[in-house]
Amino acid sequence: IKNMTKKEVAKWREDHEGIRIRGAKCPKPIMSWAQAGVSNLEMKLLAKLGYTKPTPIQSQAVPAILSGRDVIGIAKTGSGKTLAFLLPMFRHILDQEELDELDGPIALIMAPTRELALQTWREATKFATPMKLRVVCVYGGVGISEQIADLKRGAEIVVCTAGRMIDMLVANNGRVTNLRRCTYLVMDEADRMFDMGFEPQVMKIINNIRPDRQTVMFSATFPKTMEALARKVLDKPIEIQVGGRS
Ligand code: ADP
Ligand code: MG
Repeated sequence: IKNMTKKEVAKWREDHEGIRIRGAKCPKPIMSWAQAGVSNLEMKLLAKLGYTKPTPIQSQAVPAILSGRDVIGIAKTGSGKTLAFLLPMFRHILDQEELDELDGPIALIMAPTRELALQTWREATKFATPMKLRVVCVYGGVGISEQIADLKRGAEIVVCTAGRMIDMLVANNGRVTNLRRCTYLVMDEADRMFDMGFEPQVMKIINNIRPDRQTVMFSATFPKTMEALARKVLDKPIEIQVGGRS
């Protein structure tokens, strides 16, 4: 391996592991959680959930996101994409200075459907609750008042579907929540969001988020038609692909 050029190493990884990276200076993959510098509490929770070691997408995307870069992660359904953006998200939140004058979520996770939003909320809660962080899930198709009350109590993390999040931003003349403090944005299952025609709503939300945020996008596929959206929303992203592109 010592005598291989960078190009040859990349070729070797693609042939042996099906991993392809685009974008300059992607950090090296982690082979264990310890290499990602997770806390003792997180280590305990990971063990309890049976997540003994990172999956391929996690091993590459976690250090890439921890480096602060925007990241596009493409890997098939069931490959563990959720944890790939949750672990760096917790670090991002804990690294924030206390800003008493600001409320609203620090991290916003957008999902295409209520089921997927709830699934991610459940997974996030397993870590967030013991870490004393609050996660609220907002989605349409049910009454809004309970979710408004949840948001008003405050949350560092919000998981949402786009339509209901837009309602929340304008509800009560904007006094329910806001995105002034949001610096970590996740577009999860982006291909489905795109297929379902949610791009206008998604863009409407993103236009409320500061441009110096960190943005990560995860998807099972990355069709050419999504590239224009990615270019608009992400800043010099590292693109990590496990297996085929679509
Ligand atoms: P995706 O979003 O890529 O479809 P998920 O994030 O929903 O996949 O994860 C799929 C399944 O794999 C979930 O049941 C999750 O609990 C499990 N899982 C995630 N990461 C690991 C890991 N490191 N080790 C073992 N199981 C994992
Ligand atoms: Mg997923």
